[in-house]
Amino acid sequence: MTIKAIGYAASGKHAKLKPMQLERQDPLPNEVQIAVLYCGVCHSDIHQCENDWGNTVYPCMPGHEVVGRVVDKGSLVTRHAIGDLVGVGCMIDSCHECAPCLAGDEQYCEGPNSWLATYNGPMKPAKQAKTGENMYGRDNTFGGYSDQLVVREDFVLKIPAALPIEAAAPILCAGVTTYSPMKHWGVKAGSKVGVVGFGGLGDMAVKIARAMGAQVTVFTRDKDKVAEAHRLGAKSVVEGDTKAYEALEGHFDFIISTVPEKHEVDPFIPLLRHDGAFVAVGALAPMPGWNHMNVVMGRKTIAGSLIGSIAETQEVLDFCAQHRIAPDIQLIPIQEINEAYKYVKSGDVRFRYVIDAASLAQDKAA
Ligand code: NDP
Ligand code: ZN
Repeated sequence: MTIKAIGYAASGKHAKLKPMQLERQDPLPNEVQIAVLYCGVCHSDIHQCENDWGNTVYPCMPGHEVVGRVVDKGSLVTRHAIGDLVGVGCMIDSCHECAPCLAGDEQYCEGPNSWLATYNGPMKPAKQAKTGENMYGRDNTFGGYSDQLVVREDFVLKIPAALPIEAAAPILCAGVTTYSPMKHWGVKAGSKVGVVGFGGLGDMAVKIARAMGAQVTVFTRDKDKVAEAHRLGAKSVVEGDTKAYEALEGHFDFIISTVPEKHEVDPFIPLLRHDGAFVAVGALAPMPGWNHMNVVMGRKTIAGSLIGSIAETQEVLDFCAQHRIAPDIQLIPIQEINEAYKYVKSGDVRFRYVIDAASLAQDKAA
C-alpha cells in the first residue's frame, strides 16, 4: 500500500516550484507517518532548488524544518504515539555504524552514502560512494513541502508542548545549526558572541546565544534590522562594513557567520580574542583567503559546522522551550512559495517563512 501525498517541487534549475503528486510507502515496522502541519523555508531550500551546490536531484521537493502529527506507525515503534506532535529536521537516516554515527554525530556520517537527507537523497549518492553502493535504496527523497512524510522513528523529534506549534519548525534546522557550534565551542554566560548575517539562522543565533547568557553583537548590511536586533536582545549592532570594526578588536570569543554567499573572513579575525573561533555555517562555497598571521598570533580557529546531531536537535528544541524562545516567523500558504524565495534572497524576510501545510489541501482538491 502507498500513501497518496502532494507537495511542491522544482523540476529544474530555473523552474518555479509547482504542485506535484507523489506516493509515499506505508510505514515500515520502525517508521511513523506524519501529517505535516508546518514547514520552515530555509535558504538551503533555495540553494538546492537552484542547484547552487551542483548536486541537486530533480524533481526537488525541499523542506527540512517540519512539524506535524503522527497519524500512523509501524508495529515496532515505541518512541512516538499516534497523535503526538513531532518534528523532522535535515536528516532521516544514516549508516549507524561509522565512528561519527556511533558517537552520536550522524551529520558527519562516514558511511558509504553518508546521511540520508530529508530531501535530495543521500548526501553521498551511489555514484560518489567509494563502493558505488546505495545503502538507502533511493536516489532522491522528498521533503516537508508536502502533506505527508514517512520517517524512521529515531530520526523523529518530540516537539515540547511549551513551544508555539507554528514557530517550532525552524528550530529543526536554523536552531540546531546555530546551537551545535555554540555548544561545541563552549559559548556560555558572559561569552562575547558575534552574529554575521541577520536572517533565519541569525535570528536563532541571537536568541540562543542570549539564552546561554552571552553578550551578542549583530553584523548586518541592513539599517532596518538594527532596531530588530536590539529588540531581540543584541547588546550592539554593526551595520555595514564600517570603522566600527576597529573598536571591536580582540572582543569576541565566538563569531558565527550565516552569510549565504562567499565573503571575506579576514576583517573578522582581528575581532577575535585569544582562542576565539570564527565559524562560517552559511557559505558552502570557496571562500577568499585570510592573513594567517592573525590566526596564528592568537591561536584562533577558523571553522565550519554542519547542522547538528539528532540528539542536539532534541536538545535545542527542549532548550528553546525551557527558555521560552522561538523563531520570529511569517506564516504563508504554499502557493506563495516562489514569491517568498525572492524575499529570502533579497534579505527581506523577518525572519523565517513558515508554510502552513493546510494550504496544500487546495491543490489536492484541484
Ligand atoms: P537567510 O537568507 O534567512 O539569512 C542570511 C542573511 O545573511 C541575510 O538575511 C542577510 O542578513 C545576510 N546576507 C545575505 N546575502 C548576503 C551577502 N551577499 N553578503 C553579506 N550578507 C548577506 O538565510 P538562512 O539564515 O536560512 O541561511 C543562511 C545560510 O546558511 C544559507 O547559505 C544556508 O544554506 C546555510 N545553512 C547552512 C547550514 C549548515 O549546516 N552549515 C544549515 C542551514 C543553512 P543582513 O540583511 O542582516 O545582512
Ligand atoms: Zn536548513
